[in-house]
Amino acid sequence: MEIKAPRGTSDILPERAQYWDFLALEAMNLFESFGYQKIIFPTFEYTEIFQKGIGQSTDIVQKEMYTFLDKAERSLTLRPEGTASVVRAYVEHKMWNRPQPVKLYYYGSMFRYERPQSGRYREFWQIGAESIGSLDPLIDVELIILLMDYYRQIGLQMIELKINSMGCPLCQPAYIEDLRSFLESKVNEICSQCKKRYKLNPLRVFDCKNEQCQKIYKEAPQLSKYLCSECQNHFARVKKGLDLGGESFQIDSSLVRGFDYYTKTTFEICSPLIGAQDAIGGGGRYDGLVELYGGPPTPGIGFALGLERVTLALEAENSLPQKKETKGIYVVSIDDELRTEAFNILLMLRRSGFQSDMDYTGKSLRGQMKQADKKGARFAIILGPDEIESGTYTVRDLNSGTQENVKKDNLVEFFKKDR
Ligand SMILES: [Zn+2]
Ligand SMILES: [Zn+2]
Repeated sequence: MEIKAPRGTSDILPERAQYWDFLALEAMNLFESFGYQKIIFPTFEYTEIFQKGIGQSTDIVQKEMYTFLDKAERSLTLRPEGTASVVRAYVEHKMWNRPQPVKLYYYGSMFRYERPQSGRYREFWQIGAESIGSLDPLIDVELIILLMDYYRQIGLQMIELKINSMGCPLCQPAYIEDLRSFLESKVNEICSQCKKRYKLNPLRVFDCKNEQCQKIYKEAPQLSKYLCSECQNHFARVKKGLDLGGESFQIDSSLVRGFDYYTKTTFEICSPLIGAQDAIGGGGRYDGLVELYGGPPTPGIGFALGLERVTLALEAENSLPQKKETKGIYVVSIDDELRTEAFNILLMLRRSGFQSDMDYTGKSLRGQMKQADKKGARFAIILGPDEIESGTYTVRDLNSGTQENVKKDNLVEFFKKDR
């Protein structure tokens, strides 16, 4: 048996995990200032939740879900995204009884059975936010600005916002019909994938990355020309709101999100520095989803961003947060019998809030000093029999190499002062 993580997954080791924490913490602070509250939902759901919500025709439901039978033969699926679960929770807990809109955010890993390649993983991490219960175009603007503010706050500068409107059940069908006729007329020029896609749901063809296909779809009918007056009006107010918020954007008529549940506003944010798969986040309205799950007709809108992609973009802009200079303290004992005393000092320091550590592998004095250095400690406290007897310890500043004698009772004060 080979000892390695399953295909398409990876360990996030401490060097990288610190960025995950940074991204989650920044999100928490900003999202809460916008009035969003955290929700934690299960890692898996009954399979129907995703089949129904995301849509049978999507690539996700067709071939990318991690679906399995549990011991009671129930079909369960590891969550491929967050919106379906949040809306399921909204319906299950009748959250329409709370002040509307209900504004929620989440952070966690998602699962898709994809061919692992080019930064795509089978387990990947997302931060997302959802606002359920308001059709106000200003809510769309709020979410888009929240996402843009987030990217700027974590240090991204080169980001591009694209928006579009996907219409509604009133105006979308006529468009889909015309799109289907257009695709029929081009059926010999599009890729084999798209031939299958357009039969299931013509909107899916816009997911295609094939250059030839993309060229053809530039001439396809545009949804914007089919919008009903309500959808037009909504989109106009979103654009106006973004203008007032000082947010620049492009309208991209091919921005048709790959899930069945999207209506009206959709948006995507790209980083031009990370290659062809340049989206680092996006979202849109899903005004029919609550009703689809058996709740009252309730509009909703949300977004999700991928931590792997965002980290790539930060790397490309050279904006990853620098590792904080550590001011850790390493307690070194000259002989083995003093280790209990070293441990006591460690506890005292830790309980006073100082990051501190010692050796647990029986290293020599020299080995311990080396370890202190490797761990990036700023100070070493050196304990010998004389020090224990006199109650005065040698504190070495590992940056400057200077030493000072400090009384045991004054240690905490000493480190506080130095900081
Ligand atoms: Zn409409
Ligand atoms: Zn294609």
